[in-house]
Amino acid sequence: MSDTLIRSLDLMEPGDLVLYHGSITSLHGLWLALLCPCGICRAMDALGLPEVRFALGDPWGELPGPHHVRRESLTRSAACG
Ligand SMILES: [Zn+2]
Repeated sequence: MSDTLIRSLDLMEPGDLVLYHGSITSLHGLWLALLCPCGICRAMDALGLPEVRFALGDPWGELPGPHHVRRESLTRSAACG
């Protein structure tokens, strides 16, 4: 893995456009990354644990996306600029 790719992963944050390539193949594609709002993630955050997962939203607001998605299942889209 190149330094450039590692840096781009580090910079991924809620509000970024991301490409999902995880286990749900029917949902592969471009999504808006949001902080996962589920109870597990809220509990992890309250404990100060660094495990960050994402919820995915349709950039066009048409479809509900998956949530509790591992960072490893996402790639920050080059379209972010
Ligand atoms: Zn979660």
